[in-house]
Amino acid sequence: MRTTLKTDITVEDICEGFIYNQLEGKGLFGLSGKLTIQPEYQRNYIYADGKKDVAVIESLLKGYPLGLIYFNKISDDKFEVLDGQQRITSFGRFVTNKFAIKDENGMEQYFDSIASDQRTKILKTKLLIYECEGEEKEIKDWFRTINIAGVPLNNQELLNAVYSGPFVTLGKEEFSNSQNANIQKWSAYVSGSANRQEFLERALDWVSKGNIGDYMSQHRYCDNITEMKNYFNSVIDWVSAVFKDVENEMRGLEWGRLYETYRKQPYNPQEVSEEVKQLFADTYVKNRKGIFEYILGGSTDTKLLDVRIFDEATKNSVYAIQTAEAEENGISNCPLCAIENNLNKNRIWKLSEMDADHVTAWSKGGATDISNCQMLCKTHNRVKGNR
Ligand SMILES: [Zn+2]
Repeated sequence: MRTTLKTDITVEDICEGFIYNQLEGKGLFGLSGKLTIQPEYQRNYIYADGKKDVAVIESLLKGYPLGLIYFNKISDDKFEVLDGQQRITSFGRFVTNKFAIKDENGMEQYFDSIASDQRTKILKTKLLIYECEGEEKEIKDWFRTINIAGVPLNNQELLNAVYSGPFVTLGKEEFSNSQNANIQKWSAYVSGSANRQEFLERALDWVSKGNIGDYMSQHRYCDNITEMKNYFNSVIDWVSAVFKDVENEMRGLEWGRLYETYRKQPYNPQEVSEEVKQLFADTYVKNRKGIFEYILGGSTDTKLLDVRIFDEATKNSVYAIQTAEAEENGISNCPLCAIENNLNKNRIWKLSEMDADHVTAWSKGGATDISNCQMLCKTHNRVKGNR
């Protein structure tokens, strides 16, 4: 790969013919049409947060360096931005009056309204630009290894770069477009943002059963995303059919795995809904995210709910009472040992050899308080817990 350092290209040069697409959230072209700012393998513009974009403009005004920018030279007068797209889109949007900065009095100022010497300072700023020439693979491999200053590329953004092609393009149109009306619905179940490729990542994760890289490699040159789209929609349709009410805790669960495991089971959505409400109201349930899998699995695996356990004071107190009574009667302080005819019939266990047990199981309405607590030897507690 050959690189040439350019030091004479200015902000004004880049902004010549700058086009920003509001709908797609992308800076498109610059440098009089010679520069493609956002090639397919680049992520969407994510600096528009009133902080990172403003910081770029403040750096220019203070004469701070913006850092290295990399162009991929495709032909004599065609370039793509490899690294620097966020910075370029930020100053491009500012120069075209798409956002404002605040002056020393806290007043919003657009490019057209700042002092002319400040405008000139921004426009005449020279950038440090490396032009790279080489094989596509070579440049992409290299691109995979760099991190853009500020926000590093996440996994899916890297994979999109490595497997760029028609499949990724179509996948991004469907899953990375924040204007897609479905995003709102999907975000009840999928966490993250479309911009950062997290919906695309989920769709790939589900359809590939976790083998995203393999799937992208196999489908790289496919001209459709039908399988992925159908699978994703099947998962979402299934979840929204089984669970009628949308709870915050549903967002980001492993719905792909749950769909594969439980989709053949019938559920009564009305009953499910009532059970969800009941468990959400149960103060003993510490892990609310576990409620959904707990219900899907037939409401047996209480480990998923992380039910509140007895505190030390309760255990100490129950142990003392049980042990005093057992010693008086000459039987074991584990009530289950005491009624079994074996070697431990009369054994007095130490506190450290016992565990607290719900006399009436929590799942049958038993409370986690002293009235429903008994100490069992560890063996019996395990046996009872497994029933
Ligand atoms: Zn026992």
